[in-house]
Order: sequence, then C-alpha cells, then structure tokens
Amino acid sequence: MPMYDSHMHTPLCKHAVGTPDEYAAVGHERGLTGIIFTCHNPLPDGLSSNVRMDPEQFPEYLEMVEHARQNWADKIHVGLGLECDYVPGIDLNDWLEKQAAAEPYDYLLVSVHPHLNEYRQRFWQDDPVAFQKLYFDHLVESAQLGLHDALAHPDLVKNLVRDDWDVPRILDHVRGCLDKIADTGIAMEINTSGWNKTVQEQNPNATILREIAIRKIPIVLGSDSHEPGRVSDRFTDALDLAQDAGVEHISYFIQRQRHDVLLADARATLAPTIPASSNQPDQLS
Ligand SMILES: [Zn+2]
Ligand SMILES: [Zn+2]
Repeated sequence: MPMYDSHMHTPLCKHAVGTPDEYAAVGHERGLTGIIFTCHNPLPDGLSSNVRMDPEQFPEYLEMVEHARQNWADKIHVGLGLECDYVPGIDLNDWLEKQAAAEPYDYLLVSVHPHLNEYRQRFWQDDPVAFQKLYFDHLVESAQLGLHDALAHPDLVKNLVRDDWDVPRILDHVRGCLDKIADTGIAMEINTSGWNKTVQEQNPNATILREIAIRKIPIVLGSDSHEPGRVSDRFTDALDLAQDAGVEHISYFIQRQRHDVLLADARATLAPTIPASSNQPDQLS
C-alpha cells in the first residue's frame, strides 16, 4: 500500500541541510512510496526571511524538486509541495491565493508558527492559557482560508509555554476550534518532529488527536525533516498513536487529491528498520 512522508524541507529555507536527492534516497531505503517537499513558502516584504527562501529563489526550488523527481522516478515518487505560513494580523490573503494557484502542486500545508517574531510581537501575552487559546483560533482562521490541503503541526504553541501546557485546561476551547476546522474539510498532520522539540512528543498531543479522530478529520503523516536522516522518523510510533486515538485512515495528497489508506495497511507497508530519532535540536519547523 502507498506510504508517504508528506513534510520535508530543502536548504533554501536556511535552516535545513541535504539535497532533495539525499532525502529521496533515505525515503526509498525506508520503504516509502513517496515523499513530498514542503519547504517554507516565500513571503513578500522580507517577512521572516531568515527562515525561508526568497521569492526570487522559488524557481530554483521548483528545479531542485523536479530534478529529484526525475532522478528517482522509477524508485520513489518525489512530490512538489509548500508549507505556507498564515501570519494572523498581516494581510497575506492575495499573496497566498496567488501562490497556491501558481504551480501544479501535489500538496499544500498551512502553518501557524508561533515562534516567528512577527507572531510573538503581536500576540504574546502574559496569560499563557489565553495565548494558547488564541493560537487555536488562528489555526481555525488558517483552515478557513480554504487554500490548502492540510494543517501542519497543530499544537506547535506548546513549545512556547512548556510549563503551562495542560491540555485538559484548554480542551473545551480546542474542541470548539476543531469543530470549525472539521467544517472546512482540511486534513491535519501528525508531525513527528515534535519528539525533538521542547515538549517532546508528536504534534498534536494524543488527547487532541483523539478529538481530531472523533471528527473524522483526515490525517497526514509528516516527519518535517530538515535533514535527510529524519525522513519517516518515528512513523511507527505515530501509527501506534493514531490507532490508539481511533484514526481509521492515513491520507496523502497527489495533485491536490486526497488518498486514504487503511491504518493497518499503512503499518504493514513501513519498512521494519525505522531509524532512531536524531538528536539534533530542531526548534524551527
Ligand atoms: Zn512548520
Ligand atoms: Zn523549517
């Protein structure tokens, strides 16, 4: 059965290493059907330009991914995607809309990155619970743009509020947000890079994942690799969690179309040699 890792980066974002060919080689070795590059999207006016490609580098990104796609065509599918930042308070809607329509992507992620300066300056507040709730409101807004296929690392905010991260305390609010997200039809990600972050667990937390499963929101797996060695990192753990949460299918996107694989079939497809997690700190995502 097809098995994809649908979230990884290229050095163009200035905080990842390895060529797309090297990521493809690892994906192939680990038994994946495909990998999707979802590097951080170019943004206008120098917005958070320290962690993403410049707009004029975008053609280079397309070339890199296309080059790997051709090189690996008979071994593993290399797909084209983008991880698109939604930055609340900055009107990027036209930009994001044009960007989403500009290329024949396989898959588009939308992200709210709470550690970006542009986000912290606007929304950080001394009340950490209110800050967390606001983050989930922003996830709803990102889903309601209606431009993207899946919502990345849905509880990334926990790494900024480690000592105040207490899911039961915000769960009612999160449930309300997930109801609205479910209404949009967007998928959500299990992101395994969370194990290398401040709160060392996947994104989202198991309790939130259960709420996602109850609402039948489609689930996509992503390693969020910023180095080739992390491709499909901890996917068996992610599948265990998904099963415990009541998730029935694992999904992936090709040409913006969703494909669903039964969880048991996804598990059977993964090569038995899943690597130990890298110890490299990976706070950016
Ligand atoms: Zn991210
Ligand atoms: Zn990143």
